[in-house]
Amino acid sequence: MDDTIHEGWKFPDLSRKAHYYKEGGAISLCGKWLYTGPFCKSQGTLGESPGPDDCRVCHRKAVSAKIAAAVHAAAVMPREGEK
Ligand SMILES: [Zn+2]
Repeated sequence: MDDTIHEGWKFPDLSRKAHYYKEGGAISLCGKWLYTGPFCKSQGTLGESPGPDDCRVCHRKAVSAKIAAAVHAAAVMPREGEK
């Protein structure tokens, strides 16, 4: 089982809020925070609304990205014999 966290919240040292980082991304989704430190929460803690310590812009972008990914996954149907 792969427990590696690929995306999630990080807490930059100078920030008062947690910001959301995509896999391999050093800049938060809101585009304001460059940070390469560890994730501060486990993967999959993206609630419907941002927590008190969560950046609202990051949260909104992370949620919309997840919805877009889900829609994309549903739209890509595997086809047999396709090359
Ligand atoms: Zn942010």
